[in-house]
Amino acid sequence: MKNVTEFEKMLKTAQPGDSIVLANGIWLDSELLFEAEGTAEKPITLTVEEKGKVTLEGNSNLRIAGDHLIVSGLVFKNGYTPTNAVISFRKNREEMANNSRLTECVIDNFNNPERQVQDYWVTIYGKNNRIDHNHISGKKNLGVTMIVGLDTKDSRANNHQIDHNYFGPRPTYGNNGGETLRIGTSHHALENSNTLVESNYFDRTNGEHEIISNKSCQNIFKYNTFFECTGTLTMRHGNETLVDGNVFIGNGKPSTGGVRVINETQTVVNNYHYGLTGYRFRGAFVMMNGVPNSPPNRYVPVIDSKVNNNTFVNCNNILFGAGSDAERSQAPRTSEFSENIIYNDNKKDIFTIDDDISGITFNDNILGKNSETSITSGFINADIKLEKNEQGFLIPTSNKIKTQIAISPKVATKENTGTTWYSKADNSIALNSGNNIKVEAGINTLYEIVKKSEPGDIIELEEGGTYLLTKAVKINHPLTFKTSGKIKATILFERMMAFEIQNGGSLFLENITFDGAKSPDYAGNSVISTSKNSMTENYKLFIDKCEFKDLIVNHSFDVLRVSKGTFADTISIQNSTFKNITGSIAALDKETDDIGAYNVEYFLMKNNSITELQGAALRLYRGGKDESTFGPFLEIDHNVFDKVGHGKKNKYKSAISLYGVQETDIKNNIFKDSKAIDMYLVVGEPIVKVQNNALNNSEKLIVSGDQKYFVSNQWNLTPKFSDESRYTLSADSPLKGKATDGSDLGIITQ
Ligand code: CA
Repeated sequence: MKNVTEFEKMLKTAQPGDSIVLANGIWLDSELLFEAEGTAEKPITLTVEEKGKVTLEGNSNLRIAGDHLIVSGLVFKNGYTPTNAVISFRKNREEMANNSRLTECVIDNFNNPERQVQDYWVTIYGKNNRIDHNHISGKKNLGVTMIVGLDTKDSRANNHQIDHNYFGPRPTYGNNGGETLRIGTSHHALENSNTLVESNYFDRTNGEHEIISNKSCQNIFKYNTFFECTGTLTMRHGNETLVDGNVFIGNGKPSTGGVRVINETQTVVNNYHYGLTGYRFRGAFVMMNGVPNSPPNRYVPVIDSKVNNNTFVNCNNILFGAGSDAERSQAPRTSEFSENIIYNDNKKDIFTIDDDISGITFNDNILGKNSETSITSGFINADIKLEKNEQGFLIPTSNKIKTQIAISPKVATKENTGTTWYSKADNSIALNSGNNIKVEAGINTLYEIVKKSEPGDIIELEEGGTYLLTKAVKINHPLTFKTSGKIKATILFERMMAFEIQNGGSLFLENITFDGAKSPDYAGNSVISTSKNSMTENYKLFIDKCEFKDLIVNHSFDVLRVSKGTFADTISIQNSTFKNITGSIAALDKETDDIGAYNVEYFLMKNNSITELQGAALRLYRGGKDESTFGPFLEIDHNVFDKVGHGKKNKYKSAISLYGVQETDIKNNIFKDSKAIDMYLVVGEPIVKVQNNALNNSEKLIVSGDQKYFVSNQWNLTPKFSDESRYTLSADSPLKGKATDGSDLGIITQ
């Protein structure tokens, strides 16, 4: 059978026990409706001629409806679904699949090209369905990867089993809607789903801070492995959840978390956690505060919940009463935290107590010798040793431990999940991993060489050479440009940008001068821009030892300008000079819908000299009150800002404009003759550190935003930003200085 018409014809006559076999090859734009009636003894199977040799590409999808159906071996790649699901267990709202199985299917990078267009990859409805040994990897557009829907009665108390699936990497989405698995919704929070989620492997599924969003009652999560996932298994809504025998491996990676408990009668037992560093809502374990008489869609207070026999090795944070605020004022009640083992090499006290804990009973918890807690009873210290078990896990041992954790042989591994025939290898290519290619100075030589480049290549410019671009260089894979030797090469450009980062591109610029002398006389030029179109792939941008000068041909000439629908994992600007510029260094303020979206996760600016910059050096915006994401994270360290922010077109009227940034660390900088840092704190529990900065004839820090941050003083400004007396800034060298502890401010010469 070679096409959809033949498939449909064959399906019409399919009898119980039959197999419908898709022929090897590419099935382009194939929307399959597998609707049939098998029997328990004789199911009807949809499968492929040879596993791995049949791919559904372009605008393809699959709907399953009927009874006792099996789907096996389909691969979806190189395309996206034209509907809201790639694989759905229903034909329409009324006609769904029951007693059916989806096994050994693959959905790989099957992304809608519009980052902000939502779809799901697998939607599960009906009852008694099994979803097992599938390989589901690389979702990058908006929308949960897999959902269990409870929107009709026939999908509730469903007894679905989701097991041995491989959920491959899902990069940070940068907004809500990046969950990997959701069971139910807030509308059906009090319905029983009775879904078993067992032995699945979650490999860096980082979309947002709910890896799993449990939103219904009586679900079971057993023996799943969460490998370096930035987020938690969240019991967002619904009661009577069992989380038993799962493994959370953080390996010290940022924002990795464990389990977050909300609602009633939740049981969290026998889980193993290693190297989880996340804090607040993505701690290794988080018990939230609730809203008194909460509607189902807010935060139902924790009661009657048990957290027992869990093991935490080198995890940084366990929180009780997390999210406590004026609305979430109800602390956990009649709950228990017992016989847990907590071992840390370094961090002494990993507990954060955000509200009253008198409603939690603590019994027989064991801490390592060097650990401590302010919780007054229910903890003893023991001389714990770590021993590697056969599976490779470091297990705390001590004669004081009554029941040592045994990690089930059923626990998910990369090997026992997914398919045997579809590779789980990571094909992403890093910057600076390719060949060195020399490029001669001249007109468009850079443009030509990029067309021949391979991902990861390093393009070397001639020392002191001049490169003119009459065409913008499109960057659609990771590339590095650098001058080898002391004297920087100079790049001039006649288009509105020198480089345009396109989907899949990342850029590293090192030891190069950019001069705006040949740029067109329009407003809004930039040295680097992202694609004007939505980009599903996150990008990286590194700038080191570069010089940007005379970007003044017209107003609002930026160094970096991004578009809506683009997201950078990292932007790092170091050891560079910026002089005589009419716009900003980085204008990261294009997500203005106030729904929690933003343009960059990590932004670092270190050891740069910025002089006569008319716009705000940095504009970073994350609007709205959504709490699903972690960033942006910002660090600005050892820079000199000299005459920054005074341009008439600078609508922000500041040298640095920050809105809704979650972590801000601004230190060791000098501001001379510059406008203020202006920050607006709006959501989460923003961590703000502004330390050791010196002001010389510059405006003082402006902090505004949600009043609660001022009342609770959860942000931290030390020492007081405006206190100039703490620094030595001499009149003849106001761009150098020292803090009272003797440490340097401003640029550090290397
Ligand atoms: Ca979410």
